Amino acid sequence: ASMRDAKIKKTKTVCTYCGVGCSFDVWTQGRDILKVEPQEEAPANGISTCVKGKFGWDYVNSEERVTKPLIREGSRFREGTWEEAYKLIAENLRSIEKEHGNDALAFISSSKTTNEESYLMQKLARSIFKTNNVDNCSRYCQTPATKGLFRTVGYGGDSGSITDIQQADLVLVIGSNTAESHPVLATRVKSSQKLHGQKLIVSDLRRHEMAERADLFLHPRSGSDLVWLSAVSKYILDHNMEDKAFIDKHVNGIDEFRETLETYTLEYAEKYTGLSREELIRTAEMIAEAETVCSLWAMGVTQHLGGSDTSTAISNLMLITGNYMKPGAGTYPLRGHNNVQGASDFGSMPDKFPGYESVEDSVIRRKYEEGWGTSLPEKAGWNNHEMVEAVHDGRLKAMYLKGEDMGIVDSNINYVHEAFEKLDFFVVQDVFLSKTAEFADVVLPASPSLEKEGTFTNTERRVQRLYQVLEPLGDSKPDWKIIMELANELGADWNYSHPSEIMAESASLAPLFAGVSYDRLEGYNSLQWPVAEDGTDTPLLFKEEFPFPDGKARLFPVDWSVPLDFGEEYDLHINNGRLLEHFHEGNMTYKAEGITSKTPGAFLEVSPELAEERGIEDGSFVKLTSPYGQVKVSCIVTDRVQGKELYLPMNDSGSSAVNQLTSSYADKDTDTPAYKELSAKMDVLKPK
Ligand code: SF4
Repeated sequence: ASMRDAKIKKTKTVCTYCGVGCSFDVWTQGRDILKVEPQEEAPANGISTCVKGKFGWDYVNSEERVTKPLIREGSRFREGTWEEAYKLIAENLRSIEKEHGNDALAFISSSKTTNEESYLMQKLARSIFKTNNVDNCSRYCQTPATKGLFRTVGYGGDSGSITDIQQADLVLVIGSNTAESHPVLATRVKSSQKLHGQKLIVSDLRRHEMAERADLFLHPRSGSDLVWLSAVSKYILDHNMEDKAFIDKHVNGIDEFRETLETYTLEYAEKYTGLSREELIRTAEMIAEAETVCSLWAMGVTQHLGGSDTSTAISNLMLITGNYMKPGAGTYPLRGHNNVQGASDFGSMPDKFPGYESVEDSVIRRKYEEGWGTSLPEKAGWNNHEMVEAVHDGRLKAMYLKGEDMGIVDSNINYVHEAFEKLDFFVVQDVFLSKTAEFADVVLPASPSLEKEGTFTNTERRVQRLYQVLEPLGDSKPDWKIIMELANELGADWNYSHPSEIMAESASLAPLFAGVSYDRLEGYNSLQWPVAEDGTDTPLLFKEEFPFPDGKARLFPVDWSVPLDFGEEYDLHINNGRLLEHFHEGNMTYKAEGITSKTPGAFLEVSPELAEERGIEDGSFVKLTSPYGQVKVSCIVTDRVQGKELYLPMNDSGSSAVNQLTSSYADKDTDTPAYKELSAKMDVLKPK
């Protein structure tokens, strides 16, 4: 039937962009997306959406979609069939495995794909290739937050629901451009300020929208958050402002914690953060006086040498002030991608099975060996960062990567591109021919979220179903189907007829999801993990106890990692982050006409002081150079940034891609790249 004859239909889906996890009905006619209509019963967003959720869907019909398997021939690709592609991949991976061992292979899952697809990716790596070399892009963002929370409170997820944040007396936002990165969540904070006088403290390098709205805006030096968090904790303890009853009942390690804070006096904090004594005391008082405090943080905290430690310090502060175990209190690391939570939850991690059970625990491993009917590797595998190093030194020979534009979003991408070139065999599965896919030997055409069924898990641990709206374009297929067919080509006998069967299998193996089933997730129903077998879910993560043997949380002492010093020559600090209109490297949003018409590309924010000094105006074109590479970009002059602090959005995959500048230094505990520790020098190419 022609497009005009096609029936208009309405299908429930979940947004494919950020971790807020908005759900809504999408109206379509044939392949035309007519409109997006949010519904009252949508748990995370109700009747709200942001510009990306509303207008960011045209990319599914883009002419640039990959619709057939592509096979490299010299410097070009030719179209091939699925049979041919599977055969080629199976032969190459098996022969590399035979020659160089199981750990010469690595697998990368995607936070844009579904939970079921991440589950199958780790099952493929572990059960077919006997390697734990499997990871996902949370390594680039929130793994440090997960680490900090596991250390202190035992679960790496938001303490409560997004709606709980509205109840807080005080919201503390650290290193998060919430209004642009998590717009619908930010709207909820904004409305609570009006509704019940909720207080807001924002700590950031940039005076962004949330900072403008804050009751107290802190502007510490880059990478010094741990210092002020520790000084504030010390001040609270020294002045008996802590929640003693809560600590006695629920928290271990207070004496040792108190001792390790000794260095963090107000004088010390003033010296290294640049904040004033008054600001530090005011922060301590506001936190101690509030009945309920929610802490929200994002990449401004995690993407540093001490990202895990700073995340830990936030949780420590919430523990001593009794800000857990009640609605409107707790820790909320804000997840970037729509399913970054789920990609880790469902086991695409080098050391964890689904539900965060250790691969090195023999009892757990036996459970999976029985469940999957095969032997499994004992030793934890490499994370993304270690994989790049392992390619460079010749230990890693082949990679299979789905839905991740690692060649743009990883740090120090020139070094990553060299690694891609060194691989003996490289498979990329994606919706578009991404920068990363250009290096592949085989590109497999995947279907985006509107063309398949599955589940996504948002930042508040909420599992939600998405329903198929459109048929897969051309020969593209859902990722779960591709992985299953490839596994079968490799000799497995997987016969899932629908993602619900994959979820049923993971629910039977991972206690965290024991009661998750597609029936219970029908329509707008959702479940927040942990989910008990009878289907009882957990909106408030900690109720009577913390998930440690004695039921008590642990204060975990941490020390400050002094930020990287690039030397005097690199005299400008480059902060980086998101823009409201675009998402990540822009593979989807730059192909959505509804969005590019408003915001065509990236730009560099320059402070009025620096602009004056260097003769820069709006539209001036500059070159930035770091020890690792250079970018060329046009400028806007704005007082959102101050002094020698520049802001370059990450949403560009061309000559202004910020990761041409970033280094290979990483968080010492998780290997998350220290993207935010970046300095460069600037040459003005065209004044205007
Ligand atoms: Fe909601 Fe985030 Fe999608 Fe915007 S991008 S509609 S806030 S899930």
